[in-house]
Amino acid sequence: MPLAVSEIREKNREQEDTRLAALISTGILDTPPEPSYDTITRLAGEYFQADSATIGFADEGRVWMKSCWHQMVRELPRKSSICDMVIAEDGPVVVADISRHPQRDTLLRRFKHIGIASFASVPVRSTAGRILGILTVFYHKPRPEMRPESIRTLESLADMVSSQLELRQLHKTLHGNGSRHRHARSVATANESWPSKADLRQALDLGQFVLYYQPEVDLSTRRIVGLEALIRWVHPERGLIPPMEFIPLAEESGLILPIGDWVLSQACSQIQRWCKEDPRRVSLRVAVNLSARQFSREGLADHVEALLLNTGISSRQLGLEMTESSLIPNVRIAMEVLSSLRRLGVSLLMDDFGTGYNSLNNLQSFPFDVLKIDRSFVTRMTEGDQPLQIVRTIIELARVMGMDVVAEGIETCEQYRLLREMHCRYGQGYLFARPMTAEAVTDLLRLPGRILPDPELAELVCA
Ligand code: C2E
Ligand code: MG
Ligand code: MG
Repeated sequence: MPLAVSEIREKNREQEDTRLAALISTGILDTPPEPSYDTITRLAGEYFQADSATIGFADEGRVWMKSCWHQMVRELPRKSSICDMVIAEDGPVVVADISRHPQRDTLLRRFKHIGIASFASVPVRSTAGRILGILTVFYHKPRPEMRPESIRTLESLADMVSSQLELRQLHKTLHGNGSRHRHARSVATANESWPSKADLRQALDLGQFVLYYQPEVDLSTRRIVGLEALIRWVHPERGLIPPMEFIPLAEESGLILPIGDWVLSQACSQIQRWCKEDPRRVSLRVAVNLSARQFSREGLADHVEALLLNTGISSRQLGLEMTESSLIPNVRIAMEVLSSLRRLGVSLLMDDFGTGYNSLNNLQSFPFDVLKIDRSFVTRMTEGDQPLQIVRTIIELARVMGMDVVAEGIETCEQYRLLREMHCRYGQGYLFARPMTAEAVTDLLRLPGRILPDPELAELVCA
């Protein structure tokens, strides 16, 4: 039996209340215009060759703009807005020519003075599918209808907006107690402050540090395409000490500078040795982790250039990994250093993507080639739709920005399968290989085609 008019109104009211509750729980209306979203509006604007692009969130009465690319508008009445059209449609709205649209008068009243002739708008949804806001691209001229693939790309960009809201919430849960470095340091402090600065100094002088290397593979072929250099301390009494137990102190005490220099020169010499044994290994890229302190020093790029010249390796064979938090203390210097490193031709990898406060915005500002998805997202991927969607969005984001993407910390065949399904190109994790000595890596590099055994087969055999 059809619903009575009053029942329809009541039902719509309920839906609107649920929508508003979902919007309020994101906290987005209380924040100033969101810098991270500028990446998305800029991308949408450039990708669709639009004249402007906006992201707005609709409460009961108004549409609040959280990012405007090439537009100054900050808020609008909601009634008869594009947002209302998208909510009524419960999906994308494409208007190829405002002057021929049934709602022509309303649209012209709103847009004529800013010269808008056509637009495409898609919903930004909550995880439960409620429409929180819209992402819209605008044109000064009428445009032919958009193809379905183009609408889907615009929807992917809108998904990034939703994921950014979720990333912040997830970040609060995962890293609410501060960064992992600070955490590791507090553990070290609790353990009677071992090691001391003098211990570290001595370890460096006595040559107690070693580099382990963990393979990075092409997920479709399992070919080793690169290696990440990871420092260890071989302590005569305490055994093998992982970096999180001494890198934070090295950073605090400034010893990270000589330790970092040692890591860089060691990694470059190792690349040289591997290539000497087999020149086909020139396609391998070894990535070294850099800390904040290494950026605030003059001449990092000169130092790297000298190392490349001395060891005779090509800049393509070296990668430098950094977390966004290491770039934040001095953004201006970090930007200069990164640009000169980029000019040298070394690859720049953003490590632990998603764990920083403003990942998306920083990604736009800094010239990275590769984005490494933090292990925490890969681990949670099989826990439900939301974490899976976040990983999907990060992969899509990298694709749109023309960056390579590496998933960190792959431990299970299920994660491996999901990542391949989402077209994640590269990965790294215990499932393929743990960090190991240079000698052990040499054995792996001798495998035909540098292709690692199939972990799915191993699982079948063990089952
Ligand atoms: P990172 O750069 O994100 O390195 C990845 C870490 O994840 C490594 O820990 C690696 O062993 C671990 N890992 C890789 N695959 C898996 C997996 O499948 N499961 C699990 N549970 N873990 C996995 P590691 O070697 O303990 O290094 C920790 C961090 O220490 C590094 O994180 C990096 O931030 C820092 N670090 C390591 N070497 C250096 C260095 O030479 N210089 C500086 N500044 N930092 C370094
Ligand atoms: Mg790293
Ligand atoms: Mg990492």
